[in-house]
Amino acid sequence: MYLESSFFQKTHEPSRVPVKSLPSHLQHVLGRSGEVTVYSTQGEHQDENEREAYYRAFLYPTQLQSQTLDQLLAARDELSKLVGFNSFAERALQNTMTKSPDNANKFLRLLSQQLLPMTHADFSKMAALKQAQSPGSDLQPWDVTYFSSVMRRNSVTTSLAEVCKYLSLGACLDGLKLLTERLFGITLHNVVPGPSECWHDSVYKIEVRWLEGNDVIGYIYCDLYERRGKPLQDCHFTIQGGRLKSDGTYQIPKVVLMMNFATPSSSLPTLLTPQQLENLFHEFGHAMHSMIGRTRYQHVTGTRCSTDFAEVPSNLMEYFASDYRVLRQFTFHHETGEPMPEEMANQIRKSKSLFLASEMQTQVFYSALDQALHSSHPLGSSTIDILSDVQKEFYGLPHVPNTAWHLRFGHLVGYGAKYFSYLMSKAIAAKIWQHSFKDDPFSRSNGERYMKEVLCHGGEKPPLEMVEALTGVKPTIESLADSLIEETRSAGNYAN
Ligand SMILES: [Zn+2]
Repeated sequence: MYLESSFFQKTHEPSRVPVKSLPSHLQHVLGRSGEVTVYSTQGEHQDENEREAYYRAFLYPTQLQSQTLDQLLAARDELSKLVGFNSFAERALQNTMTKSPDNANKFLRLLSQQLLPMTHADFSKMAALKQAQSPGSDLQPWDVTYFSSVMRRNSVTTSLAEVCKYLSLGACLDGLKLLTERLFGITLHNVVPGPSECWHDSVYKIEVRWLEGNDVIGYIYCDLYERRGKPLQDCHFTIQGGRLKSDGTYQIPKVVLMMNFATPSSSLPTLLTPQQLENLFHEFGHAMHSMIGRTRYQHVTGTRCSTDFAEVPSNLMEYFASDYRVLRQFTFHHETGEPMPEEMANQIRKSKSLFLASEMQTQVFYSALDQALHSSHPLGSSTIDILSDVQKEFYGLPHVPNTAWHLRFGHLVGYGAKYFSYLMSKAIAAKIWQHSFKDDPFSRSNGERYMKEVLCHGGEKPPLEMVEALTGVKPTIESLADSLIEETRSAGNYAN
């Protein structure tokens, strides 16, 4: 525990580096002799020397943090072996859907093999832009953030402010109401909370009911606006889990949907960005998992399922948030009432899916590194050498000597050998989308099946059995990787 918190804390701390440790062509950039303090990699900086200097300085390896990581990984390995496992990864994955490190590594390798050609296509586009700006120089890891954001900005002709006018919070909530009613036969009603029931005046209480019969399914407290002292984080959390009580009645779930949107004023409603809309749908996906869950015990209800399945319902909702067939039902201009033009929705989608492959490749690389570091000890080489090898195989741009990105990878602590879960959840969401909703995002019969076969079981039933019951086919590691690749290829318009 001490090693975990000590490692985690240092992943966020500024870096103090002797200027002399930087290559000579960069020593003047940070401007001083002696030691400099840097707070981030400054990846958006326009000047390449600045980007490179900050990248190298922020990611400069410190011996103390490197030792802490060695001790943490060794301690985890020792604990796992004490209870009969071969590695920490094996112990961490025993109750997940993926089951074993071999399966996790196979999944990551399959993804990487298919992603790499698309990732190289992304990097080539960035490299071409860099060549145009500074002939003769290759694309480097410190360039990726800068060139991808420049190209993303250049890819849209409509201003973000104009897009947001179609995404008032009221309209987006109407979209969620419409979707839940049409897909699941569930209605959402704003109700007045009791005295002192809510922790702030701006919190709404939503009563969730079946359309048929009108029975209450649960309650969602919507704490949507930013305010002083509130964590700057979008999330869903449970106040009361659903469970079957000893008298045979059902304890209904109560959850919180927490976002950080701007507070509306008398003249302007809260307007969301496309990213905020996606986040709202994502968190609402978690809330519906909790609402629809009808498990016997509350510790396995809703989102309380294996880590590699928990993000499935939320990732699935993201597909609905970017599908024009859904968007056109609720995205009306807050002043004129005009529906969002299809061309605008296409631009949003295009800009979001630009460099989709290289972004996913980065996640594959992080996940593969997490697996490698938590495999059986002794590891055989230093963590920095492992970083370099994994980056070579799984990223597409080489490791920069004398940098140690992994010493800033805080998720090694919380996820510990399960960082790949995010990709696995995405792959299952892609499979469910393709099977049940891609042809008709309002299919009531498929919405019903999805509720019955997946959402209502929470963590009570093995996830692969749920997916098999829904799709009629037992998913394999290969087919899950293929589903995710297929969605990436089509969304990002990559060649076959
Ligand atoms: Zn989530």
